[in-house]
Amino acid sequence: MIRAGLAVVATAVLLTGFAGAQQPPAAAPPPVDFSKVEIKTTDLGDGVYMLEGQGGNITVATAQDGIIMIDSEFAPLHDKIKAAIAVISNLPVKYLINTHFHGDHTGGNEPFARDGAVVVSEVNVKTRLATGTTNGLTGARTPPAAPGALPGKTYTGAFKIRLDGRIADLKHIANAHTDGDTYVWFKTANVLATGDTFTNGRYPNIDFANGGNIKGMIAATDAYLKLTNARSRIVPGHGPIAADKAALKEYRTMLVTARDRMAKLVKDGKSEDELVAAKPFADLDAKWAPTDLAARNFIRVVYHSLADKPAAENKPLLKRILHRS
Ligand SMILES: [Zn+2]
Repeated sequence: MIRAGLAVVATAVLLTGFAGAQQPPAAAPPPVDFSKVEIKTTDLGDGVYMLEGQGGNITVATAQDGIIMIDSEFAPLHDKIKAAIAVISNLPVKYLINTHFHGDHTGGNEPFARDGAVVVSEVNVKTRLATGTTNGLTGARTPPAAPGALPGKTYTGAFKIRLDGRIADLKHIANAHTDGDTYVWFKTANVLATGDTFTNGRYPNIDFANGGNIKGMIAATDAYLKLTNARSRIVPGHGPIAADKAALKEYRTMLVTARDRMAKLVKDGKSEDELVAAKPFADLDAKWAPTDLAARNFIRVVYHSLADKPAAENKPLLKRILHRS
C-alpha cells in the first residue's frame, strides 16, 4: 500500500489514506506533496509496464512507432511520469486512454495532450469532465475540466487502437464504477488494465451519483474472468498487480456477497444510517477495508446501488450535451 517508496515514509499514512479509500474523506484531506512522490515501474513482459505513483495505476504499452498509455494520475506528476516512460522507450505517447473520469486517473490529460497524445475515452467520460460532477458521498463538487483536458477521441461500446506491433482492445462496461468505464486488453501481452472496476485487495468505490452500480462491477469481473487465463497479469485501478486470476475471483466473491446481503436489507426497508450502524459487512472488513471510513463508505455505495431509483431525469440532460459535442 505504501507505493511511493521508503523515501517518503513520513507521507505514507497520508498517501495510503488517500489512495486506499479512493474516495475523499469527509474532512478535506491534507494536500498531497507531489514533490515527494516517486514513480515505480514494473515490467509485465512483452513491452508492457505498470507505473505506480500517487493515484490510479498507469499501464504503458510500447509499439514500434509509439506508446499507448492508460490513465495519467495527477497533472503535477506529468514530468515524473514522462521521465519514467522515457526510461522504457524514447518514442512518444501517441494515445492516452482514460479508464474513467476521476481526477486521480485523468489529471494528466492536459499536459500529455499538449505533448501530442490523443486522449481516448468512452463518451460519458468527456461529458462528466466537461460538465463537472458531484461526489455522492461527500457532496464535494468537481468543476468542469479545462477544454485542453477533454478527450480528443470518444467511443461507445468498443474500440481498437492499432500501432505497429500493438493492438489495444478497449471495451465499455456499463454502469460499474461510473457510467464511463473502459477496460483495456492487450491480448498478445496477456495484460488486462481494469481501471477502478477492480481494486486489488480493497473495497472499490462505486460512484453511484455518476452512474456507478455494484451490478455493473460484478458484470465487469465476470468479463475479466472470461478474458484472462492463469498466466494473465491484471493491472487494477488501485492496489498491487494481480499475477493471476485468484485475486479477481476473491474480489468477485466479496462483491456478490455484499450485493446479496444488501439486497435483502434494502427489501426489509432498512435505512442507510441503520445499515451503517449495523455493519452488515463486518466479516469482510478485515480483508477489504483499509480504514473504518472505507468500511462505512462501502456500505453506503452498495446501499445506493440497490436502493436508488435509476436517475432517469439525467438522461435528457446527458443527451443534450452529447448532441452538442
Ligand atoms: Zn475512480
